[in-house]
Amino acid sequence: ALVIGVLALQGDVREHLVALAAAGAAARPVRRPEELAEVDGLVLPGGESTTISKLATLFGLMEPLRARVADGLPVYGTCAGMILLADKILDPRSGQETIGGIDMIVRRNAFGRQNESFEAALDIEGVDGDPVEGVFIRAPWVESVGAAARVLAEHEGHIVAVRQGNALATSFHPELTGDHRVHGLFADMVRASRTRGSL
Ligand code: GLN
Repeated sequence: ALVIGVLALQGDVREHLVALAAAGAAARPVRRPEELAEVDGLVLPGGESTTISKLATLFGLMEPLRARVADGLPVYGTCAGMILLADKILDPRSGQETIGGIDMIVRRNAFGRQNESFEAALDIEGVDGDPVEGVFIRAPWVESVGAAARVLAEHEGHIVAVRQGNALATSFHPELTGDHRVHGLFADMVRASRTRGSL
C-alpha cells in the first residue's frame, strides 16, 4: 500500500488522515523519527507553524524532516505546512524555523486575521474539472518563488499553490472540504516517486 504520513504534533491531523484515506492511501500519524522513516510521503497539516516547528525540534524531528525532504520525500504542506516548506519566511516569529524544500518566500497571516477567513473558487494546475473551493484561515501567501518552483494557483494576484519537485504547498485547506482532488494529486506524486525509486 501507499503509506502517507501526517505530521501529528499540532494542527488538523485527523482531517488530513481522512482525506488521504479517501484518496486511496494508507494514512498514519507521524510523531517520531522511526515513524517518519516508514512513510512514502508526508503531509504537514494546517495549524500554527511556530508551534509545529518548536515541537518538531523538541521531538527530535526537525533534522530527520530536513534530511528526508532534501532527499526527495514527497511532501505536501497546507497553510502552516506551507510555511514549514518555505526556504524563507518574510516575518518569522522568534524561534520559528522551517524545514524548507521550496524556493519561495512566504508571508504569514497575509490574508488577515482569523475572523477574516474566507472561501474562494480556485483553478489549480494539475487538478481537472470544476474549480477547487479553497478554504483560507489566517492563511499565508507566497511573496515570490525561485526559478525551480512552479506556481499552480493564484488568488487575486497572490500565489496560493506551489510545487517544486516532490514538494507541494497550498495556502488553503483542501482537507476541510469533501473534495479530495488535491490529496489525489499528492497521492499521484507519491506513487510516481515510488515507481521511480524501484526502477
Ligand atoms: N497563521 C498560521 C501560521 O502562521 C497558519 C494558519 C493555518 O494553518 N490555518 O502558522
